[in-house]
Amino acid sequence: MRQLIPILSRVLILILATAGSAFAQNDPEWTEPFPPFRIAGNLYYVGSKGLANYLITTPQGNILINSDLEANVPMIQASIEKLGFKFKDTKILLISHAHWDHDAGSAKIKELTGASYMVMDADVPVVESGGKADFQYGNRSEFLYPPAKVDRVLHDGDEVKLGGAVLVAHLTPGHTKGCTTWTMKVTEGDKAYNVVIVGSPNVNPGYKLVHNNSYPQIAQDYQRMFDSLKSLPCDIFFGAHGGYFGLEEKYAHMEEGRRRPKAAPTSGGEKDGAANPFIDPDGYKKFVAEKEQEFRTELAKQTLAAK
Ligand SMILES: [Zn+2]
Repeated sequence: MRQLIPILSRVLILILATAGSAFAQNDPEWTEPFPPFRIAGNLYYVGSKGLANYLITTPQGNILINSDLEANVPMIQASIEKLGFKFKDTKILLISHAHWDHDAGSAKIKELTGASYMVMDADVPVVESGGKADFQYGNRSEFLYPPAKVDRVLHDGDEVKLGGAVLVAHLTPGHTKGCTTWTMKVTEGDKAYNVVIVGSPNVNPGYKLVHNNSYPQIAQDYQRMFDSLKSLPCDIFFGAHGGYFGLEEKYAHMEEGRRRPKAAPTSGGEKDGAANPFIDPDGYKKFVAEKEQEFRTELAKQTLAAK
């Protein structure tokens, strides 16, 4: 019996570890509601705690970025309506990249709103096959989802325009072949800000950066992505997941600033109340530099192991 207990506990650890990796896609934060709010100008946050969605409102209808898991669609709709907008006014649907946590709900959103679906060229086969054409997860049934037809194929640098809003699609590949970083300008008061919504700079567990037969240029693509991200002017920093840019902390600061009475003239600095915490050019630079370092370390490790 004395020997059996350590064996049993080892078996238990193994079972738990296996279960953990099998359910890794179900990060509970992905489906945890988050209060919708106006970020700046006509840009709103309508995502969950873990999966980011952005709404750009215009007099001619709205643009939605990301459709998330199918389970998130009613939550996105509720967030949009809570802000006083109509879900049916969603005219254009965009994504950060063709992974289930950002695009599985696209078919449902198209059906409910009639939105036009616009996707970066290299991600089109993936979204139209419901994930089957993905270089890494194509044969993993748990990551597949309803296919959605793409209405407009985007290329690097293309503009998406609606009712005076202009978004630019930047190809930032590696994480997926058509991973897209969105940029736009928002005006708040008399100031204009450059917004960057990062597609994803992450090298996922199991990604092969060397000798990858299904994505031979993957390492060059990651480098191209980092070069592109470093070239983008950024005041307001966002991304496909709340964790990239510190959603919770920044939202809490924003709320705190809104509750606080306007700063007295003697307190200096923040004349118009608290500064918007999402204006974070240094946070953006730091994030990109850290992610590039992570990529380089992983590439060096894999290159050495392949020798
Ligand atoms: Zn992804």
